[in-house]
Formats: sequence, structure tokens, C-alpha cells
Amino acid sequence: MNTMQKTIIHKLSEKTNRNYFYIKRDDLIDFSFGGNKARKAEKFKEDIVAKKADAIVTYGSSESNHCRVIANMARSLGLKCYIISPEEKYEETYNSKMIRMFGARIIKVPIDEVSTTIDNLLERFKKECKPYFIPGGGHGNFGTDAYVDAYNEIKEYEVEHDFTFDYIFLASGTGTTQAGLICGQILNKDFDRKIIGISIARNKEKGEGVIIESIRDYLCKDINDYLHCVNFNDEYTLSGYNKHNDKILNVIKKVLLKDGIALNTTYTGKAYYGMLEYIKKNNIMDKNILFLNTGGLPLFFDDMKGLIK
Ligand SMILES: *Cc1c(COP(=O)(O)O)cnc(C)c1O
Repeated sequence: MNTMQKTIIHKLSEKTNRNYFYIKRDDLIDFSFGGNKARKAEKFKEDIVAKKADAIVTYGSSESNHCRVIANMARSLGLKCYIISPEEKYEETYNSKMIRMFGARIIKVPIDEVSTTIDNLLERFKKECKPYFIPGGGHGNFGTDAYVDAYNEIKEYEVEHDFTFDYIFLASGTGTTQAGLICGQILNKDFDRKIIGISIARNKEKGEGVIIESIRDYLCKDINDYLHCVNFNDEYTLSGYNKHNDKILNVIKKVLLKDGIALNTTYTGKAYYGMLEYIKKNNIMDKNILFLNTGGLPLFFDDMKGLIK
């Protein structure tokens, strides 16, 4: 894993409402199929190595890109890895298969026992080894910091090409990625641009609450003046994680056929679809729009069943 990789930005063929569309390719980060979890994991890795931990504990669903990246990282560092996963709706996916291939232990428990299971496991491990806990999705200041870096890369691109992005759209789950981008925006005082998180599951109240908390945690100050920067849109969740429809499948097909980029129904396809709907609904025209591709490539192959029917 390279430390501090920068990812490219390039134009898309998308033309909805005469806007100019660009994409930032965090899906191309060169570790374990890339994505925002790989960018975040690089930050955790520095801390894990510095603290000389010998086992990693984290949690996530069977679709989790985070768990795949962490299991791969643990294996490459020669560390043990324990993944706590809610047993409800657990389905074998390419991510879960790879997690097993990397030698991680998957511990399935009822969703309301996840947190006590983690506490008990860490308590037990502390007697025998040096466990390191990573919150689900790479949530926390390291994850936020990874996306302050990404924001600064976007700034560099703007300076180099002498223009600005009016909007940045992305798939928002735990909100850490979005919180990092917003911290970058606040630190750079770039208040002319809008960052819009398309929720993949959470409702607006919960989503915005967690993002605000993450920003406060990272900046260590009162952020009441910046609450207008937090835009978490829950209109395109289709009532939950992993829920999708034919419109999303069609968008995924269109982007793959036109631009050769594989999105997925759980995150990036849903967010891209949400972005286009948002743009139409709000009559956004003639703007420069950046879509952050947060990755999740293995999920595309799980989606193939729906794409070729
Ligand atoms: C986890 C994930 C997200 C959401 O990122 P958060 O920082 O949790 O909001 C978006 N896209 C993909 C592909 C992901 O794996």
C-alpha cells in the first residue's frame, strides 16, 4: 500500500441539464480494489504500525468494503483480524468470500449484540495480545483526515485547471467521507461550493447528526457557523441499505457502456442516480459538477445478476 496516493479527476460523458461532469477516481487507489475504505485504511495503518498492534478488530455487514480492505491489510501486515458481522441478512458476497480468503475470523452475532461482543472480545484480547479496534466503515478522525487530503487534491486540480467545481456529490453512509470533505471546505474557507451527500440508507436527521459530530471532533471547535455546509440528502435511499431498483441498474449500465466505469447498486450507483435526480429536481444547469467515486468494485460483480437479466 502506498502512503498518501493522489487519485485522478477526469471528465465524464454525462450531460444532464447541460452541466459539465467530472469524476474523482478513488476507486483506483491501488490497494485491495481501492475505494474510500482503502484511503481511510492508509491512515489507520500508520497508527496500527506505530502502536505495534498484533490483532485488528472491526465490524461490518457481509457487503462491507471496509471489512474487505481491513482484512486484506491485516493479512499483508501479518496481523490477526476479527470481523464482527450482524447475522441478520448475512449473504455471501465477493467481499465476504475475500474476507475469508484473507484469513479473517468472521463472528456473526445478532445486530443488537454487536457492540457488547466487540467490548468483550477486546477485553479478552487485552490479556493476551495488543488488539486495535477500527470503528465500522473506518469512522473517526483518521477516516475524516483521509478525506481532508482528498479535498486538498480537488483544490490542487482546480488551481491547475483554473476553474472550480460548483458541486461535489458522493455516496454517504457513516458520513465520515463527507465530514472529511466538509472539514477541507471549512479549512479552505470555500463556501461557494456545495457538497451533497446522497444517503445510501440513513435518514437526514441521523446522517447529519453524525456528520456534524465528526466535523466537531476533527476540528475541535464550535461549528455552528458551518452547519449550512452539511447537506445529507435522504430522498434516494429507496428505503434502505442495499435496496435498489431498475432505474439504478440502468444508470450503472449507462455509465459502464459510455465511460467504462463500474458503479454498484449499494453505494456509487445509488449516489450517481441520486445526483442526476437532484440536479433535475433543483434545475441545476451549466455548472461544474464533481462525482466522487468512492469505489466498492467487488459489489459490481454481485450486481451482475441484475444487470444482465
Ligand atoms: C463505505 C462506503 C461509502 C460511504 O462512506 P462513509 O464514509 O461511510 O459515508 C460510499 N461508497 C462506498 C463504495 C463505500 O464502501
